[in-house]
Amino acid sequence: MRGSQVNRGPIRQRETHRSGRSGWLRAAVLGSNDAIVSTASLMIGVAAASASKPAILIAGFAGLVAGSMSMAVGEYVSVSAQRDSEQADIELEQQELANEPRAELNELAMIYVKRGLEKELAMKVAQQLSARDRLGSHMRDELGIERGFLARPLQAAWISAASFASFAAVPIAALLIAPPSQGIPAIAVLSLVSLAALGAFGGHLGGAPLGRAALRVTIGGGLAMAVTAVIGRLVGGSVS
Ligand SMILES: [Zn+2]
Repeated sequence: MRGSQVNRGPIRQRETHRSGRSGWLRAAVLGSNDAIVSTASLMIGVAAASASKPAILIAGFAGLVAGSMSMAVGEYVSVSAQRDSEQADIELEQQELANEPRAELNELAMIYVKRGLEKELAMKVAQQLSARDRLGSHMRDELGIERGFLARPLQAAWISAASFASFAAVPIAALLIAPPSQGIPAIAVLSLVSLAALGAFGGHLGGAPLGRAALRVTIGGGLAMAVTAVIGRLVGGSVS
């Protein structure tokens, strides 16, 4: 029991570190899975409807552009909402600090008491930290917002658009380099291999078992392509 108590500090530290580093990186990895699965499925679906190679390529490029734009907009909207709520929390905190400095100092000290400091020491810590950076201390220890780590909507938007575009290029490249008549298998194989690699990388970031993470995303991607191929063939058969 005691051992786990002692260990809690450093482990927690590492976790915060990890989530701080991997926030945008994880978003980028998720966006890349999305890019590969949706673009490969789109191209395979069009190919299954017995379209020509140029038509399949056009479908792939359209999917790349549409997906990148949609990721950018979606990410901008959701990260802006997050930033708005962080901003609102900070403004409220500023008001409280201005109106009730005494109560706020006690509040900060109580946070340190809850984390294991004795009352007098907690008050001393609260006073000294407040003397240096009052708002910063409340942001970090009360709201969990680190200065310099505020949500960045534009950054999130272009990172996710860029990662979508680069990974949507995987199935497109597969078709371009494939020998004639091997288009669909080439798209499927190269896409699934990339998905497995990304899945393992995502698992590594999140501290999950690599094999399981890779298998999950590969099976999911394979299913998506298979379903789209079947539906593409059905639709292709009925409209031609
Ligand atoms: Zn406060």
